[in-house]
Formats: sequence, C-alpha cells, structure tokens
Amino acid sequence: MANKFFCPHCTAHLNPGTKIVLRAAKGKRKGMVLLSPEVGNYTCIIGEGLKLVKGEKVHFECPVCGADLTSSVDRRLSEVLLRRGADEFVRVNFSNTFGEEATFVITGDDVASYGTDAQRFSGFNFFGEGGESD
Ligand SMILES: [Zn+2]
Repeated sequence: MANKFFCPHCTAHLNPGTKIVLRAAKGKRKGMVLLSPEVGNYTCIIGEGLKLVKGEKVHFECPVCGADLTSSVDRRLSEVLLRRGADEFVRVNFSNTFGEEATFVITGDDVASYGTDAQRFSGFNFFGEGGESD
C-alpha cells in the first residue's frame, strides 16, 4: 500500500495520485515538484520554469494552504506528515537541497535515516528544544 503524506499545517493529502505534489520556489522561479511517496526514492519531476540545478536550496510550500514547509529542526530541511496505520502520523523531514539525498522519519523517540547524504545531518535534534533534561 502506498504511503500517504499530509501537510503538517492544513492536513491536506499531498499525494492523491502516484506522486507527492509540492509547490516549490527558488528565488523568482516557481513551480510544482513531484516527489516519490517511497521514502528513500529520490526520483522527482520538476515543473517547467523552475529549472533546478544540483546544490540549489529550494523553498517548499503546501500546494493547498501555501504554508511554508521548512522544518523546525533546521532550515535545510522541509517537513511533511506520513500516515501510519489508521490515525497515527509521523514527521518526515527531507533535505531542501536539490540533489541532496537525505530523509528522516521521526517516530516517537526514534529517527530512521535514508539517503546517501543523511550523515551530513548527524547530531541534529529532531525532537525540538527542551526535550533534553539537564
Ligand atoms: Zn497545507
């Protein structure tokens, strides 16, 4: 069964078809980006006009509510929700940089990493500020 992804702000279903649909911008260039719903699969379709170059940082927005999907973990990551089971949602963070392969699935107190560039984000705190007690 295909993974179902949702906007963390308006909870719109982001992959009603076979791809995750996000609005993307790089400076004045804007377009749609279609991503694979398979975690760790980095094939993507870039809308005409956006013309991304490897290494460029992309700004992702929800195509339904327009919310900024930048992750609270780090500005180099964007965040969407993945539905697990009937009513459970887990956070998925992925790199904003075109060509950088790094995805993190955050479940409870565990983070599963995917992609050849994931180690660049090692040591990141995916559980928000104040999670650690001192
Ligand atoms: Zn939304």
